[in-house]
Amino acid sequence: MKLWHIIRQFFLLDMIQGFSVTLKNLFKPKFTMNYPLEKTLTSPRFRGEHALRRYPNGEERCIACKLCEAVCPAQAITIEAEAREDGSRRTTRYDIDMVKCIYCGLCEEACPVDAIVEGPNFEFATDDRSKLIYDKDKLLQNGEDFEIRIAERLQKDAPYR
Ligand code: SF4
Ligand code: SF4
Repeated sequence: MKLWHIIRQFFLLDMIQGFSVTLKNLFKPKFTMNYPLEKTLTSPRFRGEHALRRYPNGEERCIACKLCEAVCPAQAITIEAEAREDGSRRTTRYDIDMVKCIYCGLCEEACPVDAIVEGPNFEFATDDRSKLIYDKDKLLQNGEDFEIRIAERLQKDAPYR
């Protein structure tokens, strides 16, 4: 093992191996994506901008269990909740500080009702940090805007969860 290590070092085999990857790709045809007019496909597990989902009847999925808030390692989620007149529990405040968020996806994994998800959108850069404090209305709006793509991706990912 030690001899092989010495041979590798002496003949610079690691370097040659590295350069061979460069050489192999040097003559392959190149392609250029004309972003933002063209976009690459994203994986079903892509973790983009957050969204809160509703059921098809319009009811919010979130039951204010606060599991996402508890599991978030960046403490980016703030939830306040109270019971409705019918006894069901819903959030009165659901904020995510997108600057703190590290896009780990744990909130989505912890959610028992697939309410909070990381959607497909990655185009939410801004020059104003205050716009990256998302409130419940913004998150629900994201859910409405991307529901079709979110549902599709959750279905594709379901066998692996
Ligand atoms: S993706 Fe991770 S860091 Fe971001 S809000 Fe969810 S749990 Fe917190
Ligand atoms: S989003 Fe999911 S995990 Fe978070 S409070 Fe609502 S139901 Fe619970």
